[in-house]
Amino acid sequence: MITYSSTRGGDSGKSFTEVLLAGLAKDGGLFLPDEWPVLSPEKLASMAGKSYAEIAFDVIAPFVDDHFDDVRLKAILDKTYGQAETRFHHKAITPLRQLDQNLWSLELYHGPTMAFKDVALQLLGHLFDAALEDQGERVTILGATSGDTGSAAIEGCLACKNVDIFILFPDGRVSDVQRRQMTTLGAANVYPVAVKGTFDDCQNLVKAAFNDHDFRAAQNLSAVNSINWARIIAQTVYYFVASAALGGCQRPLSFVVPTGNFGNIFAAYVAMKMGLPIEKLIVATNSNDILTRFFEKGAMEKGAVTPTLAPSMDIQISSNFERYLFELMGRDSVALKKAMTDFAEKGHFEVTKDQLTQALTLFDAGRADDAATLETIARIYKEADLLMDPHSAIGLNVAYAQRDKRGPSDVPIVSLACAHPAKFPDAVKKATGVHPALPAFLSDLMDRDEVMHKLDNDLVSLQHYIKEKTA
Ligand SMILES: *Cc1c(COP(=O)(O)O)cnc(C)c1O
Repeated sequence: MITYSSTRGGDSGKSFTEVLLAGLAKDGGLFLPDEWPVLSPEKLASMAGKSYAEIAFDVIAPFVDDHFDDVRLKAILDKTYGQAETRFHHKAITPLRQLDQNLWSLELYHGPTMAFKDVALQLLGHLFDAALEDQGERVTILGATSGDTGSAAIEGCLACKNVDIFILFPDGRVSDVQRRQMTTLGAANVYPVAVKGTFDDCQNLVKAAFNDHDFRAAQNLSAVNSINWARIIAQTVYYFVASAALGGCQRPLSFVVPTGNFGNIFAAYVAMKMGLPIEKLIVATNSNDILTRFFEKGAMEKGAVTPTLAPSMDIQISSNFERYLFELMGRDSVALKKAMTDFAEKGHFEVTKDQLTQALTLFDAGRADDAATLETIARIYKEADLLMDPHSAIGLNVAYAQRDKRGPSDVPIVSLACAHPAKFPDAVKKATGVHPALPAFLSDLMDRDEVMHKLDNDLVSLQHYIKEKTA
């Protein structure tokens, strides 16, 4: 059975279930498996004819512990991705769309909230619920959202018997669609909270609640943020699924990944470590390009965050990058810790020339600013009659640039499409003149009844509300 250790060296020998429920390690680091399970060539070849749920089993089973024996894991994966009960609106879960002769779009946005976070969070809810049942525990998940990702966390916990979820958002500062995706679900364990304040106020309330150790313990507070290891392996699955479809997991592919927290592209790195043939992993950023600059110069340099058309990529600190850096540094916790401390204190760290050369054997990177993003949305609409959201368009822009740079190649490029165009209608309209329609399953969203709680920007009121609702 695989054990897990923290990147910072202060927490080790953990089981999958412990890592799943803990999220962050005690020493502030991120968990990684102590070894990479490698799938045999026969196992890889066998994926060609399999369903999404079956491939998910092959990929995830090597990482779990006895709480998730084969029968139970299969049942959970079937509930999440199987035909009968899945909440994804495409039978392939993550279908591939061919854009031209060797360029493909991997559509990750067919889940209940129209964004790729659903692929992992739908599974995470079921995993959490099963693990909590075994421990006879109940948790309160608390989080803050600026609009885009709150609904995916809520949707992931909808069916959970052992989880209550409270998501704070700034009152009046999220779009009607974003708010309604959180407030119209009618589930007894879901509490959307409109805070009279900004997104920063919401985040500060969440931090303060976690820092109140008595409250945290009494409520068994937990989070489902993007550093959770289970989210990474859930995302690793679709790289195998795409490869099985395009080349039976035998023929190398390149992937372009619109990147923010480095979670999605790290999942591709895991796939490579497990034996999936990958030619290049290409990081695509918007003008918040700290990662692209890293792959150009070998240095991480913090800047200010600029708001762009692709808000889910507007970051300056990519939390999951720590996992890759740990690997690049030969799993040296001391060196990793020094880099993280330098970055926290001085906003800067560097890797060696050899390490950068090593990184570039697998990775490449590119960027697209807002103007280039709009141009790409317009181009793909004209060429393929396809509406694409700004995040996905950034990937596509970088994919085109890579092809120009590398010249003719037989290696297919798969560019990840991370959100449905209707999730970012203003940018799509601006680029194409077309207002993207909500998919059929959300077409009555504006008519559904809303339930939410309004709260002042005040910790005591929040704690009071949580206690009352979970009593
Ligand atoms: C979260 C998100 C991203 C960034 O993914 P990371 O795993 O954080 O790198 C890109 N696009 C969309 C639409 C997202 O929701």
